[in-house]
Amino acid sequence: MNKLFIGCLIFSSLLQSNEISFIKVTEPSQNTIEISFILENVAFIKSYSLESPSRIVLDVFDSKLKSDIDEVYNYPVKKIRGSTDKNITRIVIDLYEYVYWKKPIQTKTDNGVLLSLEITKTKKLKANMRDIIVAIDAGHGGKYPGAVGTNNILEKDVTLLIAKQLERTLKDTEGFSPLMIRAGDETVSLNDRYQIARRNAADIFISIHADGFRLSSVKGASVFIWSEEASSTVARNLSDAKRKRIQADIKNLKIYDFDEDTAREMYPEIYQAKIQESKLLGTKVLDQLKKDPATKIHKKNVEYADFRVLKSIDIPSILVESGFLTNPEDAERLKTMEGRRMIARSIFVGIFNYFVEKPIPNTVIRNDSEYLTYEIQNGDTLLEIAIRFGVTIDSIVSANDIKNNSIFKGQKILIKMS
Ligand SMILES: [Zn+2]
Repeated sequence: MNKLFIGCLIFSSLLQSNEISFIKVTEPSQNTIEISFILENVAFIKSYSLESPSRIVLDVFDSKLKSDIDEVYNYPVKKIRGSTDKNITRIVIDLYEYVYWKKPIQTKTDNGVLLSLEITKTKKLKANMRDIIVAIDAGHGGKYPGAVGTNNILEKDVTLLIAKQLERTLKDTEGFSPLMIRAGDETVSLNDRYQIARRNAADIFISIHADGFRLSSVKGASVFIWSEEASSTVARNLSDAKRKRIQADIKNLKIYDFDEDTAREMYPEIYQAKIQESKLLGTKVLDQLKKDPATKIHKKNVEYADFRVLKSIDIPSILVESGFLTNPEDAERLKTMEGRRMIARSIFVGIFNYFVEKPIPNTVIRNDSEYLTYEIQNGDTLLEIAIRFGVTIDSIVSANDIKNNSIFKGQKILIKMS
């Protein structure tokens, strides 16, 4: 028996046992339908929608149905059906019309993992649309302060404030849904960070940092992606004690968690695609950081590093170092709202440009997208919106026929992004 074959046996026995059953359909509100299933463990799921006839498909990898699903339901759901073929369970929701849907989320419960898919009835859709889910990971937090600035600011505070700036822009931009990995000063483990992104079906993962270095002259922003090569180089150089700690940490995955390491070995082509996409996303964000006059660049290319939060098998993931808090200039820049807002803006515009090049079907951004729609919030000014989107006030005024710079809460405006 060759080594590879033994490897496959081990992997399949590790990931194969996930049993899935249909539970129920509920209507939590007038136009919303929720379809629930129960799994034994958090699964790797690909979800997508198709047209003519309208339907939503969930492919649950390394799972098997407990019993066949064949449920007839009320408008707009025609039928829920499922079957397992070669370790992949395909669940299909047949629909009478087009709907707004959310990617299914997985919630740990005492009885297993609840998988729920939310569908919203809405007239006038030309396709089944969904939001792009952006996981925003503010580095450190809680009992881990991260780097300490020359001006005594803490990395964990800087990263959360940048994360909130990015969240603010995404939250009120049509077609986006931000997912905060931590929303306050909380301690979240490195494993939990990418597990939360997996359970909430993130489309991309952005980790935000502002680290320190022993030399205070070192400054500027950089963008990293995870790589197995960097990881194995690091692993080779690890002391035995550290290696044991990492192995223990990985074994420490909590009940129901998803094993990204085994999945990466099982689906190398999916992982390779993710690395390419991460590199493209990183390049798009770095391009914007380079355009920002306030921010200096530390590394002019996307770097590879062994940052565990980035290691999901399929979610394009980048880590943005917004500067060195040990450098007085960077520390002062990141101490101000203006400086942090520029980092968030570079990430946001980078995300937009990434999806123009790599659009996800049936989401707000297409290959030819130029505009986004933003809903004005209390306290917004045209200048501030222009800065956050990287556009000019004039372009907003002319795209929306705004008179005397007057805008109001709830107003939806077009932003010309390119
Ligand atoms: Zn950090």
